Amino acid sequence: MPHTQEILDDGKKYLIGNYGRLPIVMARGEGVRLWDSDGKEYLDLFAGFGGCILGHCHPDLIQAATEQAQQLWHVGNTFYTTPQIEFAKRLSTHGFEGQAFFCHSGAESNEAACKLARLRGHQNGGKKWKIISLHKSFHGRTLAMISATGNPTYRAGFEPQVPGFVQVEGGDFAALEAAVDDETAGIIMEPIQGEGGINVYPPDYAGKVRQLCDARGITLIFDEVWTGCGRTGKWFAHQHFKASDGGAVVPDIMTLGKAVGGGLPVGVMWARPEVAKLLVPGTHGCTLGGNPICMAVARTIFDVIQRDRLVEHAADLGRHAISRLREEKKLKGKITDVRGAGLMLGVELKSAPKAGLVERALAKGVAINLTAKQVVRLAPAINISREDWDKGLDRVVETLAAEELN
Ligand code: PLP
Repeated sequence: MPHTQEILDDGKKYLIGNYGRLPIVMARGEGVRLWDSDGKEYLDLFAGFGGCILGHCHPDLIQAATEQAQQLWHVGNTFYTTPQIEFAKRLSTHGFEGQAFFCHSGAESNEAACKLARLRGHQNGGKKWKIISLHKSFHGRTLAMISATGNPTYRAGFEPQVPGFVQVEGGDFAALEAAVDDETAGIIMEPIQGEGGINVYPPDYAGKVRQLCDARGITLIFDEVWTGCGRTGKWFAHQHFKASDGGAVVPDIMTLGKAVGGGLPVGVMWARPEVAKLLVPGTHGCTLGGNPICMAVARTIFDVIQRDRLVEHAADLGRHAISRLREEKKLKGKITDVRGAGLMLGVELKSAPKAGLVERALAKGVAINLTAKQVVRLAPAINISREDWDKGLDRVVETLAAEELN
């Protein structure tokens, strides 16, 4: 194997510089541990932006991928294949009654959802085509999704914006209601905002949004790309929401990415049957979407989560971390909030740290992430043991306690 410096030099030469990559080459992973090319070990509390929901190289997932790889890789969606159907059944069991469209990423699943919302808005000669999203939201990097994303930074330099996307303040129901007009086709929101800084809404917000959508014939899209698949201590984060009558708040469309492939490229648009039925042949597609290997892995992820009771485990570990970090004496005066649900947590620092916080944490043997300038994000694999979680939190505390914040 070439020396680390050679790999880094080649990486700079041959890879486009659109990512702020750290000068570390990750070489191996097992469970919640990563090893770099120099053999240094890290506890991974960010799981590849939440993608490795069951950690690295999970034996059940290796087995599912290997068995499927020996049987059938790809035929395209002119045929039925069993892994897609088996996986979709799991979504129906743990989510809500619906039907699936498969693609490869969160952005693509949101694209599909916005297309479907527009298609529905154009039904019977209708003129509904606008999609409302929330400030601080993130929905992906395609041209339409940077237009949906509620943070102008992602649009800078890529103007003009794709028309028909409108943003309002998240959690402010009056602002949302005021933004709705006769041309509004859809509302898209993350149940908990991820990239925006682990932001949660007032408890009655989602229920009111659902009611508004019902009253005005608007398609409600929950972007569960970050929050889905057990991460927040529910199978899907919208299952935390309660309507005013105490009932469930169910979207018309739910989108998934990241965790749903466990580190392989899988995106899902899951839609209620009466909405899904509008996507007739020719309206949308994806050549490799629903690839049997990815689907076999996705199905197995759901089976392992259920078998090992990982939804409850994520909820427990999240509660434990929130109280532990809030009470941690070493962090007094350094942090202003600890929020989130399950194993999707944000620790808000008093102010933005000096550049290099993630590197300083890595030097202490823990992989974390910083978003919204001053929110440390923790999102490990949801099968992390309590012991490793505590060990990781020790390292996070040690890192943050040493930060000089203004
Ligand atoms: N939606 C949400 C809520 C996300 O957090 C992300 C990525 O971070 C996306 C969509 C885009 O997903 P992808 O990078 O797989 O396209």
